[in-house]
Amino acid sequence: MPAPLDRRRLLGLLAMGTASVLAGCASPGRRRAGTDAETGADVAVPSTPAAPPPPLPPVPPPHPAPNQVITHGPTTGRRIALTVDDGTDAEVVAGYVSFAQRTGIHLTFSPNGIYNREWAPHAGVLQPLIAAGQVQVINHTFTHRDLRSLTTAGVRDELARNDDWVIKTLGITTRPYYRPPFGRHTPTIDAIAAELGYTRTVLWAGSFSDSEVVTPQFLLAEAEKYLQPGVINLGHANHPTVLGLFDQLMDLIHSRDLHPVTLDEMFDTSRASGTAR
Ligand SMILES: [Zn+2]
Repeated sequence: MPAPLDRRRLLGLLAMGTASVLAGCASPGRRRAGTDAETGADVAVPSTPAAPPPPLPPVPPPHPAPNQVITHGPTTGRRIALTVDDGTDAEVVAGYVSFAQRTGIHLTFSPNGIYNREWAPHAGVLQPLIAAGQVQVINHTFTHRDLRSLTTAGVRDELARNDDWVIKTLGITTRPYYRPPFGRHTPTIDAIAAELGYTRTVLWAGSFSDSEVVTPQFLLAEAEKYLQPGVINLGHANHPTVLGLFDQLMDLIHSRDLHPVTLDEMFDTSRASGTAR
């Protein structure tokens, strides 16, 4: 028999549960009261086990092949690929992750491992979105140096180290895509990358032009200009301007009947094999 105090606490927990349903809260926190077998203390135990996220595919070996540089997707449909680079600002990284989670928009992230502190807290949210194919992660190198300034071993190290970090953090390979920092690359660098399985060098055809701090008006004007069928658009998780604009960007995408897709979806590649299907 629960003591009166226990009963009051139980009623309080039940009331909290009712309140959260009325407020439209997400369900993972729904719990019922129980008693710890060892201490006799009240504990919250899950009423039903949370559904496990779909499993991530096993990390495939590299598939070296000739490299292709891509800047644009097919213009015959209504697809666009929104790509989001770097991650220097924790709040903006969190904003983009939340944007993906709450809207279901398909995004491709190009994070650098030096910003592990900004990205790692979101691994639990991102992994199921990655497994579901809504979010893709590509290689943007570990330290974001201009690859033209590095030796062959240095280029290899930047790509391998970042892929190792993404695999460890998010459970998925970045192959076959890499985006050179600053968009600066050479045929030699692309060939080095291709030997590691990076057979697609991804540039961009449109940009929010927000690698530097810009005004909301400027960012939206860039979006108006560039969000067109087939565009690979570049944005950055570096400055907070975009945080107040997600709804307006979605409105623009919907008003133009554009369909945001990942690079895998746009180019029929597969993160499960790390190459073309
Ligand atoms: Zn970058």
